[in-house]
Amino acid sequence: MHCPYCTAVDTKVVDSRLVAEGQQVRRRRECTSCHERYTTYETAELLMPRLLKSDGSTQPFDEQKLRAGIQRALEKRPVGVEEIEALVNRIKQQIRSSGDREVPARLLGEGVMSELRKLDQVAFVRFASVYRSFEDISEFKAEIDKLTAHPESDSYSD
Ligand SMILES: [Zn+2]
Repeated sequence: MHCPYCTAVDTKVVDSRLVAEGQQVRRRRECTSCHERYTTYETAELLMPRLLKSDGSTQPFDEQKLRAGIQRALEKRPVGVEEIEALVNRIKQQIRSSGDREVPARLLGEGVMSELRKLDQVAFVRFASVYRSFEDISEFKAEIDKLTAHPESDSYSD
């Protein structure tokens, strides 16, 4: 790549190492012309399937939107950034696992719900109430009933 300082076309890699649990390559580069050093990060760009909505239209998978929805549900909950990232990665893996170029959009919502249910029940109820309100109210009520039926789930009703 071109040097970001002097735009010379020739730079060399002086160091290369795996970071982020092997998901990223960090490279130190040096410009052969002005000798400035800088760092680049390389990650695999994995193709995510498009989301097929119930009206037959499709939309691109939006990781930022997914993360924002999860963060909103987990607001002020005792769940760390790393747990959220791990959750986002698990959901992306689920979405990709079919190998199809299009997957039903509801798989994404249901994936988030099943992960949140395991992680934090307050967040699960928050997310489900937003998500399900556009889908099926009776189904959402059944989910809530399932939760309230278990005494160990009492912690969410604060
Ligand atoms: Zn340079």
